[in-house]
Amino acid sequence: MKKTYPGPCLNRRDFLWLLSVSTAGLALGGCAIDPVTGKKELVLMGEAEEIALDQQQSPHQFSMDYGPSQDKALNAYVGEVGMALAAISHRPQMPYSFRGVNAAHVNAYAFPGGSIAVTRGIMAELENEAELAALLGHEIGHVNARHTAERMTKGTLMQLALAGSSGYVRSSEYATYAPFLEKIGGLGAGALLASYSRADEREADRLGMQYMAAAGYNPRGMTGLMDILVKKSQYKPSALELMFSTHPMSQERLDTAQQRAATEYVAESKRALLRERYMDHTVAVRRIRPALLELQDGAGSMAGQKFRQAESSFASALEKIPEDYAALLMMAKCKMALEKNQEALQYAESAKQAYPGEAHAVQISGITKLALQNFDGAHEEFVRFDQLLPGRSQTRFLTGIALDGMGKRELAAREYNTYLQTVPQGDAATHARQRLTEWGYVK
Ligand SMILES: [Zn+2]
Repeated sequence: MKKTYPGPCLNRRDFLWLLSVSTAGLALGGCAIDPVTGKKELVLMGEAEEIALDQQQSPHQFSMDYGPSQDKALNAYVGEVGMALAAISHRPQMPYSFRGVNAAHVNAYAFPGGSIAVTRGIMAELENEAELAALLGHEIGHVNARHTAERMTKGTLMQLALAGSSGYVRSSEYATYAPFLEKIGGLGAGALLASYSRADEREADRLGMQYMAAAGYNPRGMTGLMDILVKKSQYKPSALELMFSTHPMSQERLDTAQQRAATEYVAESKRALLRERYMDHTVAVRRIRPALLELQDGAGSMAGQKFRQAESSFASALEKIPEDYAALLMMAKCKMALEKNQEALQYAESAKQAYPGEAHAVQISGITKLALQNFDGAHEEFVRFDQLLPGRSQTRFLTGIALDGMGKRELAAREYNTYLQTVPQGDAATHARQRLTEWGYVK
């Protein structure tokens, strides 16, 4: 999987070439030692950059996944299992952190500094702690093998992610109704997630099993996990679409894990799978599994543009979990798609109350207010959103639209201009440029 760099670390020509293909604002780390293979290799990002990128991006992803779980005990449990694995990994010094996130679909992911999340959707499917350890071990494997940093050498992820390019919208939930959200500045559900290669997956599986075995777990948790994912994908493929597009699954992965458990890890494979312990710690999330499945159905319908069907799935989920932030916000987005903006706003406002300070609901509320031509109200929401989750270029555009609606031309022009500097292309950019031209700021 690694490309070692032949000869001297970097000559001037290489350096210039790299500058031209890499993204602006990224410090260049030069050569680094791969902590797993011990080989010297060309990696643009140093550890400090990995951590900085993580800190900059992971909060946006957690928010798009309906925020970290409010269930402190659940987060603590995920953290306990994760830290046991991270501590014996190749990079124990990384600032690892673990949490459940409220999303209903099945997914888990890691940012390059060690911020790791698992969705409620996957927590509700797992059957024992060994499987959770396998899931976290695999993600820790990606962090340790520096897979994101490797991708970055190709200079793509950061550029696309920061621009929020619609080309990176992959999740089924967003794929089809993204255009109208994106036009006014949403961010695709998977926009910030790294897409790994099959070779990356092989390596993360291998490292995950290695860490599990060293931390005292039964490595068969890995085969159990893959079994669950494959079965689930057969009867509810849309719920796993994002996970499989970022972590490509294959029969080969399952076969390899099984073989390893039966050879390399014979002794460890006799350990307990810790089913009871997992059940005890995840009672709350497993209790709402039927509602989570309905949310998955609703998201699948949204992707197929069957908005009425989605509406009824979300409604029946909300009967079971009326105060649930994710359910309320998914319904808000569905109502927007149905152009029931007044109702959408009510759901967005309820979501805000269900999880005060979570940014995504604030943004959706603002977008709904734009649709209702309540520009002052929308402006307030975007200002608040920017305080909660600073740094998203789309917020500049949305704020520009609100100010434009309020008749504050000069302030709007400033926002449009800032937006165009980071996102020069796309529908929003075209709109922004058009306004600036009409107002005589651009010739
Ligand atoms: Zn993976």
